[in-house]
Amino acid sequence: MGTVEINDLTKIYSGGGGGIVAVKDLDITIQDGEFLVLVGPSGCGKSTTLRCIAGLEEVTHGTIELDGVDVTHKRPVERGVAMVFQNYALYPHMSVRKNMSFGLKMTTDLSKAERHEKAEWAAELLGISELLDSQPKELSGGQQQRVALGRALVRDPEIFLMDEPLSNLDAKLRAEMRTELQELQQDLGVTTIYVTHDQTEAMTMGDRIAVLDGGQLQQIGTPLKLYHKPQNQFVAGFIGSPSMNFLHVTARDGVLEHDHFSYEIPELVERDVEPGQDLVLGIRPEDIELASDGDDNSIPTTVSVVEPMGELSYVYIDIGDQTYTASVSGELVFDPGKPLDVLFPPERVHLFDPETGDAIKNRVVSEEVEAQQRSI
Ligand code: ADP
Repeated sequence: MGTVEINDLTKIYSGGGGGIVAVKDLDITIQDGEFLVLVGPSGCGKSTTLRCIAGLEEVTHGTIELDGVDVTHKRPVERGVAMVFQNYALYPHMSVRKNMSFGLKMTTDLSKAERHEKAEWAAELLGISELLDSQPKELSGGQQQRVALGRALVRDPEIFLMDEPLSNLDAKLRAEMRTELQELQQDLGVTTIYVTHDQTEAMTMGDRIAVLDGGQLQQIGTPLKLYHKPQNQFVAGFIGSPSMNFLHVTARDGVLEHDHFSYEIPELVERDVEPGQDLVLGIRPEDIELASDGDDNSIPTTVSVVEPMGELSYVYIDIGDQTYTASVSGELVFDPGKPLDVLFPPERVHLFDPETGDAIKNRVVSEEVEAQQRSI
């Protein structure tokens, strides 16, 4: 079993005037076997949270329970967790076999044969059996990362804690290892808490994602829930790539008025806005459509830059002095400097409160997606 309950966790480091608040009032429950990703920008408190769970940091306030047992003040070795770090920190003078079994020598009373058997089991699982007698310096980055994983695996942990384990790898290998790690986690069914600043990693790997900002939880949910129904502008901007576009508008006489265009308030949105209300309109690049002559509600823009990605092109469009991103079919050709009229389909529009950032209205999702999100 490996449930984790983080209750009201606060961590304040000494320093600054009143200390540095790294994590504030964090409440998260992670189910047995779940793959939870902690994501957020650099400095938002992800690693600190992980280190508190591992027992590497004293918490300032709050508790951490593993399988219902309060471990807040227990030593790391007493917690049944294994941590994998960004820098693999392998022992340079030891073989792969020894690197993987050395921790067991220090923390268990297993015989040498038993320790080696475990290293061999982990190596087999990770596809590096033929490297057991190699030295770390003979290994590629991906192989070294596998050894680091193996070192965690041999400990049979209840919980895996992973702190940006793939960020030292090149893009292709990172994508491969993402899939491998997910498969491994599913096969072993070990609860995993995975820290990354990369929203793609979060979206593709997590059963659920917890988004942190400024040490505080912004939202927790399945990747698609966060994508379709962000609770606030921060989550909306952080999840999804390229990021959601945000435009300041004011609701007036049936339109959302922008400095450079008016957008007729769709029926879908009407009851959520009040006349005179300032709003932030959010629209994802992939939801922007190209307007045809005579379309209602088309928005005049100027093409600034085109980035062909192959199947898609990212077209940067100017409205006034602001640049926004539209993601459109790669088969179309656009000329920088030329006008381009676009549409914001009403069912795809998000609205946020400009002061609090809270979502006032999220896009509409299909009944199938709605039902799926309800069932999780
Ligand atoms: P993340 O992993 O999201 O990048 P961290 O958890 O490492 O963020 O850091 C959160 C905040 O706590 C940052 O402001 C960071 O500078 C601060 N911090 C982290 N570790 C320490 C430390 N040992 N002493 C003082 N401040 C720290």
